[in-house]
Amino acid sequence: MATIMDGKALSQKLKQQMKLRVEEMKQAGIMPKLVVVLVGNDPASHVYVRNKHKACNEVGILSEVIELPEETSQQTLLEIIGKLNQDSTVDGILVQLPLPKQINEKTVLRAILPEKDVDGFHPVNVGLMSIGDEGFAPATPSGIIAMLHEYHIPIAGKNCVIIGRSNIVGKPMAALMLRHDATVTSCHSKTKDLAQHTRQADIVIVAAGRRNVLTADMVKEGAVVIDVGMNRNDEGKLCGDVDFAAVKEKASYITPVPGGVGPMTITELLENTILAAQRHHRA
Ligand code: NAD
Repeated sequence: MATIMDGKALSQKLKQQMKLRVEEMKQAGIMPKLVVVLVGNDPASHVYVRNKHKACNEVGILSEVIELPEETSQQTLLEIIGKLNQDSTVDGILVQLPLPKQINEKTVLRAILPEKDVDGFHPVNVGLMSIGDEGFAPATPSGIIAMLHEYHIPIAGKNCVIIGRSNIVGKPMAALMLRHDATVTSCHSKTKDLAQHTRQADIVIVAAGRRNVLTADMVKEGAVVIDVGMNRNDEGKLCGDVDFAAVKEKASYITPVPGGVGPMTITELLENTILAAQRHHRA
C-alpha cells in the first residue's frame, strides 16, 4: 500500500515559508507583484485565476487581475502586455490560457518579457530550462520535482516514464527529470505498447488528460506514481489519469487527485513570482 503524497499539505507549508520571505522582501522595499490577464468567459479559467489571486494574497504578493472581454483583439492584448513589460512595479505577467480564437497564443506568449514570464512558456525560458540555466520553469513540473524532494524520492539514475508531451506539462517535465539525472522516456498518443514502457519505470508521471490511462497491470511493484490529470468521473467528481484505487496497492508512493499535483502548481507560480521580483531588484 503506497504512501499518499499530500500536495495540499506541502503547498501550505511552502506558502508559510514564502510569506516570511515576502515579509522580509517588503522590509527591504521590494513588493513582489503579479498581473494576470484573463480574456473572455471560460468558466474554468475564471476559477483558476481566482485561485491564483487568492494564493498571492495568502503570501503577501500583490496581485492584479485584468479582465478583458471575449471579443478583445490581439492588438489590444499585445498593447496591454507591452505596458506591463514597461511597468517597473510589475514583476510577473501571466496570460491565462486558453485564449479566444481570434488571438494567436504563440504571438501573445512571445510578447511577454522573458524576465517577467513566470509561467515559463516563452521560448527563451524553454531554452534556458533545457540547458539548465537560470530562467523560469513551468509550474506543474516544478511542483512535481518539489514533491519528489519533499518525500526524499531519489531521481538520479532512475527510469522515469512520462505519459504526455504537451508544452506545458510533458515536455518540460522530461527536461527537468533529465536535469535531475533520471533516464527519461517520453510516451504519447502514438506510443506503441505503453505498458511495455511503464512496467520498466521506477517513476511514472501521467499527464494525458484521459481517465485510467495507467492501470495496475502497467505498474512495477514499488513504483512512484505521479498523476497530473484532471478529469471528471461518471459521477462528475474530479479524478486523475490513474486508476488510483488499484495502483495505490502496488506503488510505493502515489499522488491523489484532488490534493496532489494541483495545489503544488499554484505554489510554484508564487515561487516564480518571488524569484522574478528578487532578480528584478538584483539587476
Ligand atoms: P494535452 O492534451 O495538451 O496533452 C496530452 C498529452 O497526452 C499529449 O501529448 C498526448 O499525446 C498524450 N496522450 C493522450 N492520450 C494518451 C494515451 N491514451 N496514451 C498515451 N499518451 C496519451 O494536455 P496537458 O495540457 O498536458 O494536460 C494533461 C492533463 O493534465 C489534463 O488532464 C490537464 O487538465 C491536467 N493538468 C493538470 C494540472 C495541474 O495543476 N494539476 C496542470 C496542467 C494540466
